[in-house]
Amino acid sequence: MAIQRLAPEVAQLIAAGEVITRPADAVKELVENAIDAVSQQRLVATDSNHRIDVEIAGGGAQLIRVTDTGCGLARAELALAFERHATSKLATIEDLAWVGTLGFRGEALASIAAVAQIEMHTYREGEPTGASLQVHAGAAGQVETSAWSRGTSVRVANLFYNLPVRQRFLRSAASEATYIAHLICQYALAYPEIQFVLNSEGRIALRSPGDGDLTNALAAVYGPSVARQMRELIPARQLPGEGVALDGYVGLPENSWTNRSHISLFVNRRWVQNRALVFAVSEAYRDMLPPGRHPVAAINLTIPSADLDVNIHPGKAEVRLRRERLVFAQLQQAIRNTLAAARPVRNLSVSPQPLPGTDTLQQQGELSLSPNEEVELPAAAPPSTSTAARLPLLRVIGQIASTFIVAEGPNGLYLIDQHRAHERLHYDRLRSSLAASEIESQQLLEPLTLDLEADQQELVQKHQNELKHLGIVLEEFGDGAYLLRAVPPALTTGDVLANLTGLLDDLLAGSDSASWQEQALASIACHGSVRAGQTLSLPEMRALVEQLERSSIPQTCPHGAPTIMHFSQAQLEKEFMRR
Ligand code: ADP
Ligand code: MG
Repeated sequence: MAIQRLAPEVAQLIAAGEVITRPADAVKELVENAIDAVSQQRLVATDSNHRIDVEIAGGGAQLIRVTDTGCGLARAELALAFERHATSKLATIEDLAWVGTLGFRGEALASIAAVAQIEMHTYREGEPTGASLQVHAGAAGQVETSAWSRGTSVRVANLFYNLPVRQRFLRSAASEATYIAHLICQYALAYPEIQFVLNSEGRIALRSPGDGDLTNALAAVYGPSVARQMRELIPARQLPGEGVALDGYVGLPENSWTNRSHISLFVNRRWVQNRALVFAVSEAYRDMLPPGRHPVAAINLTIPSADLDVNIHPGKAEVRLRRERLVFAQLQQAIRNTLAAARPVRNLSVSPQPLPGTDTLQQQGELSLSPNEEVELPAAAPPSTSTAARLPLLRVIGQIASTFIVAEGPNGLYLIDQHRAHERLHYDRLRSSLAASEIESQQLLEPLTLDLEADQQELVQKHQNELKHLGIVLEEFGDGAYLLRAVPPALTTGDVLANLTGLLDDLLAGSDSASWQEQALASIACHGSVRAGQTLSLPEMRALVEQLERSSIPQTCPHGAPTIMHFSQAQLEKEFMRR
């Protein structure tokens, strides 16, 4: 489509104007234009090898240069491109409903040109020569002939030179550059078929291969070892009539970070910072990662444009989804499926083929053990139903160091950490009973008295109701003394008072990223569980292992540490040189 001015009634309906407040905003607009231009070029020609180069100096405030191999601009349209509401990407308001390009407002070039010195060189196939244009603080020069022969290059110098106020609000060059690097990484992940090269302050900060393979893009962004540990998303079971498709890669719980910046989400390949969606991803890892840790993920959601409104945010970073809850549910289910199928219990490997007799109602696959010691999933196509890595039936043999349970399974030897396994069981039970109603509370035969420190008292007073909800009844007795009347059954193992004060101390020391309730559950599960060093009878061990067999996440404790290790028959034979 040719570039044209939007009719005023259309322009009016487009979400509030483009605001360039920092260099990254300008970079984002220019890179989006470059991507749109590359996509356009791909439609008309079959040339592959597309590349977008981004160069910045002074954190982008001094210089931004974005060069692409896209379709270029026709010489006759060059000046028009810098006018407000001039766009080639939509014409009528109906077009907004299916807009497939990243840009659609026709405002970016005008907005950047108003606050900087821009120079554009471009070449459109079929034209006799390339063309160039300079625009300084909104004033356009003459369109000139340029020797440029492929795509477009936009150079933005001295951003905000005519707006000293905004200039003063800029952070340090290093921090603006970090921001820009993060941004370019997102595009590299969203468009693995385009090579992105970021040159920041004279050094190459990112070079994605542009070979169309997302794992290679992930390797460029996060390094090969993280990329190798990531797993391709196994799509959630498609609900009838649902048009949401998910694809991408998620990291295993071993790779986690203290913030959510490694979670990249795209809707129809547009990078979105939708808090709820990001939260959905974090939540899918909830009981596999320690509180306050977040996974790595790069996921694209393909959503029919009818279910989507992209026109709600001036920076186009937010989108509105119809049926948002359903999308969350699908996203979580897909991640859960993927992690269950890939969970790297040492030497455990999961057959993607559900075995006969599997509980199809719950869509649970069965764990089967591969004859080799590979941790990797077999290369076979992922199953259409979810596979949860459940444990096979185990025969308890005994205990080592009063800490580990030794068991035999259909294919080899299992070692189980008794404390962590118990913790997992407690935690799952607490979670599900809390989801159903409140946690069962067990009245003590006689109330126990305990003295609390000032900070413990404060905590108890502040969270009286939540504690009650968790099954803990504490009454003030005066002078720092309290009466403990009831506790959840999980806390009755061993020394009840020590368990309770342990819980209070955990909560006082707690991180602020995990919810109070999550911390409380994990702590109750921990304090109520058998300790390492505690001798267990055979029936006690059997009961523990039997319950673990039924757990849907038997491989890790609520803090994410392994509960179980497996040594396959083949591995044992190899170690003993039987083969
Ligand atoms: P929008 O992207 O919303 O249409 P812009 O102000 O960013 O608005 O760009 C105006 C127009 O200029 C675009 O619609 C497009 O036709 C053209 N244009 C901008 N950058 C490029 C580029 N790198 N390659 C080809 N055309 C471009
Ligand atoms: Mg644009």
